[in-house]
Amino acid sequence: MTSVSHAPHSLPSYLNPDELGPWGIYLQQVDRVAPYLGSLSRWLETLKRPKRLLIVDVPIQMDNGTMAHFEGYRVQHNTSRGPGKGGVRFHQDVTLSEVMALSAWMSVKNAAVNLPFGGAKGGIRVDPRQLSVGELERITRRYTSEIGVIIGPTKDIPAPDVNTDERVMAWMMDTYSMNEGSTATGVVTGKPLALGGSLGRREATGRGVFTVGEAAANHLGLDIAQARLAVQGFGNVGAIAAQLFVEAGAKLVAVQDHSDTLYNPAGLNVAQLQAHVKSTGAIAGFASGESIKPAQFWEVDCDILIPAALEQQITEANAPKIRARMVIEGANGPTTPQADDILAERQILVIPDVMANAGGVTVSYFEWVQDFSSFFWSEEEINARLVKIMREAFAHIWQTAQTHQVSLRTATFIVACTRILQARQLRGLYP
Ligand code: NAD
Repeated sequence: MTSVSHAPHSLPSYLNPDELGPWGIYLQQVDRVAPYLGSLSRWLETLKRPKRLLIVDVPIQMDNGTMAHFEGYRVQHNTSRGPGKGGVRFHQDVTLSEVMALSAWMSVKNAAVNLPFGGAKGGIRVDPRQLSVGELERITRRYTSEIGVIIGPTKDIPAPDVNTDERVMAWMMDTYSMNEGSTATGVVTGKPLALGGSLGRREATGRGVFTVGEAAANHLGLDIAQARLAVQGFGNVGAIAAQLFVEAGAKLVAVQDHSDTLYNPAGLNVAQLQAHVKSTGAIAGFASGESIKPAQFWEVDCDILIPAALEQQITEANAPKIRARMVIEGANGPTTPQADDILAERQILVIPDVMANAGGVTVSYFEWVQDFSSFFWSEEEINARLVKIMREAFAHIWQTAQTHQVSLRTATFIVACTRILQARQLRGLYP
């Protein structure tokens, strides 16, 4: 007779505790919420284990005739409240641990703004800047085919993330549809308008960042029209957030991307910078700002700091130097738990990723609903519904933070984890 070892709370074998990275950060965030979950904490272990992890080999033919292999992932963290939902990232540093954390943050985010979705995320470990357009299309299509066994309009719906865009979503939708034998527009969101995309989706994450920033500024007595802004990452999220703050009167005094860090206390011209990035692919070479060292970005004198690039950017090393009154996390996971504590001690308000950047998935939800009903809304309607959801969710989380005297991050986790675990408990344990 074989004996079975029961170790319900030990780490799954694929997780090396020494290399937990972003997933380790997520686990610490979940532990902080445990005392506030009452009897639901019985189900907490569910949140510490992704429901389903898929690692795929993605072989493609390169333009020079050789064959190259890339590693791809799709992780469905939790589907208690609905199908998995979350973006796909193409980046040379993508790891399983990172995709797991990003999928878990999607579960929390979707529950925080009360969308009927679970959390998922995907990625390929590749630097897409090294690929031709043809290679990019082939890698996207092969990856989509490989993860096709677990995605679908009612199962798991990918969307854009770092280095993926409308064009990549169009290829994903087409590949899935070809394999299924019928056009399935609802399999991905963030698609071009002509393929069932939604008005307002491209700007949605930045608009959500601005909406919660505006609400928080009211609480702090901070006048946005006088505010100085520093933004890390000038892609989809960072550039649109910067644009909306500047339209409201704020000054963009510093911006950083993978190519350079620019500083101009008189304010950088956002429209011109967007045009420069559109034509050159990066902020480097933009004439009207002084180029400073990357580390100096965090010390810039400003009122609002928006990390909108990658994870683990605000750390123990730079958190003591930050001069902003508020940090709005456009990126996912930009602040380590240690840095969170330092910012809290210094009374710098942090609006966490799982609340601040939920605007993108909210309009993705609208896109999915529109695709299912084949009836499309006006941009005004979309923006109005987005702003309403973001304001109401933020107000609820602000109130929760006051009630429990906790940070906005822990408050968001309290609201979201309660919703997820209530659903989990109501569904019960199968079989
Ligand atoms: P993007 O690819 O459009 O832009 C990424 C930006 O980050 C670029 O400007 C790039 O130069 C910069 N960057 C990359 N490496 C950097 C480095 N080492 N230092 C400084 N800057 C660097 O990506 P995006 O869609 O804007 O996503 C940015 C962040 O926002 C990610 O964390 C993503 O998960 C998160 N997010 C995106 C969405 C969305 O709808 N796109 C929604 C929610 C959250």
